[in-house]
Amino acid sequence: MFVPPSDPVNKPKTLKVSQLCELCHCRKAIMKRPKNLIKICKECFYNVFETEIHHTIVNNKLFYHGEKIAVGASGGKDSTVLAYVLKLLNERYNYGIEIVLLSIDEGIVGYRDDSLATVKRNKEQYNLPLEIISYRDLYNWTMDEIVACAGIRNSCTYCGVFRRQALDRGASKLGIKHVVTGHNADDMAETVLMNILRGDVARLEKSTSIITESSGSPVKRSKPFKYTYQKEIVLYAHYKKLDYFSTECSYAPEAFRGTARELMKNLESIRPSCIIDIIQSGESLKLKPKREKKTTIRNKNVSHNTSRNAVNEIEIRSDGTVSLSSSKNNSIRGNFKDGNRCERCGYLSSNKVCKACTLLEGLAKNRAKMQLDNDTFGQGAAKLTRELESLSF
Ligand code: SF4
Ligand SMILES: [Zn+2]
Ligand SMILES: [Zn+2]
Repeated sequence: MFVPPSDPVNKPKTLKVSQLCELCHCRKAIMKRPKNLIKICKECFYNVFETEIHHTIVNNKLFYHGEKIAVGASGGKDSTVLAYVLKLLNERYNYGIEIVLLSIDEGIVGYRDDSLATVKRNKEQYNLPLEIISYRDLYNWTMDEIVACAGIRNSCTYCGVFRRQALDRGASKLGIKHVVTGHNADDMAETVLMNILRGDVARLEKSTSIITESSGSPVKRSKPFKYTYQKEIVLYAHYKKLDYFSTECSYAPEAFRGTARELMKNLESIRPSCIIDIIQSGESLKLKPKREKKTTIRNKNVSHNTSRNAVNEIEIRSDGTVSLSSSKNNSIRGNFKDGNRCERCGYLSSNKVCKACTLLEGLAKNRAKMQLDNDTFGQGAAKLTRELESLSF
């Protein structure tokens, strides 16, 4: 009897039970899900990833039908996946939202210019409108100039204050009152940990909010990735072959945040649920709104509190980072109500002068001092040259 040879190419492959996806039980598992280590196939991963974000959006009532929202788009993996997933979920579940990409150009050569090129490609790939707001246009400074003037140590503090206002201004320009950002569960747990470690009770309370609104801003912020793990965002972007920019900013994040991040990664490798657990602990903490007294050093270069109009204080914390805080004891503050406008730039500010203008004044003073030092050095060098030329041997 003739027995046909078996076809090695089309031969059905039998999978062991241990190789099967633990959700659908029919496809081959290709990964252990970082969040809970269950073995899962690619299709089920897409499904749980997208569905969990949908549940976060619905349970927290993040959007309303007809709302126009701006995605803070940096070209990095988080905001790229956010734009992609929001567009997908909007179509799948009919949220009825209008999505715009809003990017900030901080003026960091070799980093932001390249990442903005990615956002411009995303604009075409996802067919979403894009608006770019630059620090140069708004403040007449770039981050490269700020670092050259004020040093690298506090670059993220300057950048954070300026970006917050730039996003607000960009959104207002587009008639948008809601900016969504790609902050993920790792970022949030890291922030909770940092605030606990430095006893920053005031910030701790706000650090787990999924929606943040401030009386000093007409624009609210939300974080649809609040419960989404960074590793899953990277895997999603990888499997979906999304176009994103992965280089880190040349001005590394503050050393303290870097150390907290390292600690979190170590904890996560032992117990993956610790990221969600830290967020839940932060959410459950009920603390008295009381701030520990701490010794602060006034920064002579950027401090604004010698001015009679100053209402913001610049503190240098013991870990070297800069904090801008409003002085509640300042008598001038008493005349100002939340929702007032900055007397210099006209933007909404709960103080007489907004934080961005306070920092800008410090930078201007620093630049003037640097020019003076350079001129003095230049004159000194010229005098020395003349003296050397007059010497005869
Ligand atoms: S790392 Fe710091 S300086 Fe660089 S973009 Fe982020 S906040 Fe700005
Ligand atoms: Zn599956
Ligand atoms: Zn201002």
